[in-house]
Amino acid sequence: MRLPLIAGNWKMNTTVDEGVSLVTRMRPLLDKINGVEKLVCPPFVSLVAVRDTLAGSTVKTGAQNMYFEEKGAYTGEISPLMLAGLCEYAIIGHSERRQYFQEAGEMINRKVKAALKAGLKPILCVGERLEENEAGKTAEVVTGHLKSALVDIKSPDGLVIAYEPVWAIGTGKAATGKQSNETIGLIRETAGKLIDKATARDMRILYGGSVTAENIAEFVSQPEIDGGLVGGASLKADQFVAIVQKTKEVKGRI
Ligand code: PEP
Repeated sequence: MRLPLIAGNWKMNTTVDEGVSLVTRMRPLLDKINGVEKLVCPPFVSLVAVRDTLAGSTVKTGAQNMYFEEKGAYTGEISPLMLAGLCEYAIIGHSERRQYFQEAGEMINRKVKAALKAGLKPILCVGERLEENEAGKTAEVVTGHLKSALVDIKSPDGLVIAYEPVWAIGTGKAATGKQSNETIGLIRETAGKLIDKATARDMRILYGGSVTAENIAEFVSQPEIDGGLVGGASLKADQFVAIVQKTKEVKGRI
């Protein structure tokens, strides 16, 4: 059984005070919902305050990115050792990092390895751009992302993959549950070949891209989809709580 996961990616939104206020409002409601793992990924500067606000809560914290080196002269970067102990997860290879910060194959692979080495659970994002989707290249792009990101990854404890079609992120134009289920099935099969079958069978694979409280059921009702990576809707306490609640109703374990 794979425990469903709903992860909120706040991106470059919220001041420290706004982040604390957001989790203060969500916490009591989210704590009542069991059978779904709940995660928020605030900006780095809010991680400590959000973590402290969530002390004793079932809601977990994650980072939105990290560098692969442990320490040194890398001005402005955040090391996996700084995150370990502070949060449990780190999003890696988000399409916005690929698009605006030129992250690609080898760097993403190094980040996944560094996160695992530090005991962080990576949420590795893969997904095709609109022109690639329209050219029928979804399978090729997604398997390419996996092949480069998972080089020499042998025992990826806690690794989560998020399938995020780039054209669906922040556009209000979500993919369909059926399409995403097919692509996520392919991701699981590919991960099985690149790592091993048992790991792939037990690994959570999420859908991300314009997830809302209204459409989450369409995704989590699919057999291959284990939850969602949620951007915009994770900034609204009522929406995020409703997404978690719907996930529990459709898929949650007691
Ligand atoms: C994301 O940030 O990964 C994302 C899927 O954003 P949104 O839900 O806003 O499309």
